[in-house]
Amino acid sequence: MAATPDNSATPRRKVSRHRGEGQWAAGHFTPLNGNEQFKKDDDGLNVRTRIETIYSKRGFDSIDPNDLRGRMRWWGLYTQRKPGIDGGKTAILEPEELDDKYFMLRVRIDGGRLTTRQLRVIGEISQEFARGTADITDRQNVQYHWIRVEDVPEIWERLEAVGLSTTEACGDTPRVIIGSPVAGIAADEIIDGTPAMEEIQRRIIGNKAFSNLPRKFKSAISGSPLLDVAHEINDIAFVGVRHPEHGPGFDLWVGGGLSTNPKIGQRLGTWVPLDEVADVYEGVISIFRDYGYRRLRTRARLKFLLADWGTEKFRQVLEDEYLKRKLIDGPAPDQPVERWRDHVGVHPQNDGRYYVGFAPRVGRVDGTTLTKIADLAEAHGSGRVSTTVEQKMIVLDVTEDQVDSLVAGLEALDLTVNPSPFRRGTMACTGIEYCKLAIVETKARGSSLIDELERRLPDFDEPLTININGCPNACARIQVADIGLKGQLVLDERGEQVEGFQVHLGGALGLEAGFGRKVRGLKVTSEELPDYVERVLRRFQEEREDGERFAT
Ligand code: SF4
Repeated sequence: MAATPDNSATPRRKVSRHRGEGQWAAGHFTPLNGNEQFKKDDDGLNVRTRIETIYSKRGFDSIDPNDLRGRMRWWGLYTQRKPGIDGGKTAILEPEELDDKYFMLRVRIDGGRLTTRQLRVIGEISQEFARGTADITDRQNVQYHWIRVEDVPEIWERLEAVGLSTTEACGDTPRVIIGSPVAGIAADEIIDGTPAMEEIQRRIIGNKAFSNLPRKFKSAISGSPLLDVAHEINDIAFVGVRHPEHGPGFDLWVGGGLSTNPKIGQRLGTWVPLDEVADVYEGVISIFRDYGYRRLRTRARLKFLLADWGTEKFRQVLEDEYLKRKLIDGPAPDQPVERWRDHVGVHPQNDGRYYVGFAPRVGRVDGTTLTKIADLAEAHGSGRVSTTVEQKMIVLDVTEDQVDSLVAGLEALDLTVNPSPFRRGTMACTGIEYCKLAIVETKARGSSLIDELERRLPDFDEPLTININGCPNACARIQVADIGLKGQLVLDERGEQVEGFQVHLGGALGLEAGFGRKVRGLKVTSEELPDYVERVLRRFQEEREDGERFAT
């Protein structure tokens, strides 16, 4: 245990809560749990050499357990769920009993920006090494499944040849930097955050000074007035604003996060110019590394430190200890004029061309489809695509005369540019198909729910989000959805345990951001789900007053 500080003048109860939180800044370097121990034993980034020289040559069974269930995450690798194990066994089996000998591999796509060449490589890897899988996640990444450790070095080589990587895609690291998928091109943009994002990548990602954090560190930057990066639920976010004296820059938010004890991020009330964003990022991530709580994983995210410090102290520590200067006070961003923030549809760019956003079903695409999207984009004069935090995609830089043909080509792939609110607003996490923590199926359930709602409610035209999680975690952001569905086992009418969902209603992102209310006692079986959602939406249609949104 770390030494107990002299606290004789302080009320005992208050001090004991913070004693031994494992904060490095308080001199507590002794690991207080297994995760802290394996991180101290060896930097997660070092596992790459073992994968390249040992594990890929000797196979799955040669992998050190601390690498298998720990450090391999630093390179985007998680073991996937063994097929055929139902959700009732998730909590009672040992981790190794759930482990398949295949991996999920996450490719980080900072800013969601891809060239068509990169997209084609992602598609080819999917077809050759991942049985065609390639899901678009709600953090702009691509996730493969069925990856064998033997193939990982070859996959890295191909990704890195086109400037992509899996570095720190998972683990207690600075994860992918979410960015506006239309940064630098949107006609309504306040400021382009791309140079700051690239500087953060260069300075922080893969840097061992920041590769042992208390927990994951999620980041976002956007200069779009649509607030299109879910900034409210990131550990750090920079949101475009115009300062009345200094002009365009960024409003700084910290301490957002879902899962255990969800929190909306808080503004520190500062305006950060573009060329200082990376410094401020480095200061905040350093605070997290040094002061973050490392004793309990459930209290290790930045939001817990912020809750104890408050924004005033957080800003003061950032200024005094890390930046060594005062930050400029600044305004809050304006409320977005649109509810949809996904860029789906055809929109003007700032150079006279257009970008075309389209909606795969619940983020599920495949390698063949990604390759066809790259072909289509190139055939219509575009060399760039992007991914969004709503599991959608966008083709950029299309001239006006090419738009209709591109839209038709995408529609032929079932990638609609004019989706129903249900297709557009439904997201689903990985679920029981591959995730070891899952209790229920999500992707296929979400896809069939879309079909049912389109058939039953063809005239429903309200922006709506339906987010489906396979377990009590928050990968699909159920807490901030209009209808959030948390996967769990429920009792059916015969009293038997079946797959189902706890319902949360009325969550939202945006400047009215807030968490949905758990509807007490309301659990639906997966079978009943379309009937339940239809009832809720019909009641809303019948009872809504002029201008009333579903979330209100
Ligand atoms: Fe897995 Fe649960 Fe996350 Fe879904 S929400 S991907 S089931 S951990």
